[in-house]
Amino acid sequence: MLTTTELISTPCGRIDKGLIFGGKVGQRFIVDANAGKLAKWLRMMGYDTLFFNGPDDGSMVKLALAQGRTVITRDTEFMKRRAISSGRVRALLVSGDDPAAQMQAAVTALGLDKDYRPFTRCLECNAELSSRAKNEVTGSVPKRVYRLQEQYMQCPSCQRIYWRGTHWAAMSRKLTEFSAASQRQVQGGSQ
Ligand SMILES: [Zn+2]
Repeated sequence: MLTTTELISTPCGRIDKGLIFGGKVGQRFIVDANAGKLAKWLRMMGYDTLFFNGPDDGSMVKLALAQGRTVITRDTEFMKRRAISSGRVRALLVSGDDPAAQMQAAVTALGLDKDYRPFTRCLECNAELSSRAKNEVTGSVPKRVYRLQEQYMQCPSCQRIYWRGTHWAAMSRKLTEFSAASQRQVQGGSQ
């Protein structure tokens, strides 16, 4: 049976909508602006993810190399760079206009459903969240939320407070869907 690890270690192999170059895929990312919505999804899964919106692709390559990050992009030209084709920098090409489909391709191709830690990282600034007792957020969250919720997380960088509300539940369901679809595709691909 072909495991996900074997699938992603195939050099230059085409997998679903993603194209992987290089060997073992790391768990830190840089998301190119052309696939920008994936940055929040990846952070939602707990992956250390930078959003790149600079004019110079070269600096994205340098950052990926220096920090051991995998680049996720929709730019086919970017994939032709020597650092990518030689495997020095890992990159995943995603296609289409639907961010959910792009994310599904990334989850499947990179095996992101294996070790993710949902809701541990700030969606806005990528910092790791700290848990907060209820009495620590008094006056900082809406009264309706305070009455209903017992557990809170806070971003040490931007101070944003997170709780398990309806938005959280919807995102959680989506992550479960990504994971389940990834499992089906990996199993289907092994037959
Ligand atoms: Zn933050």
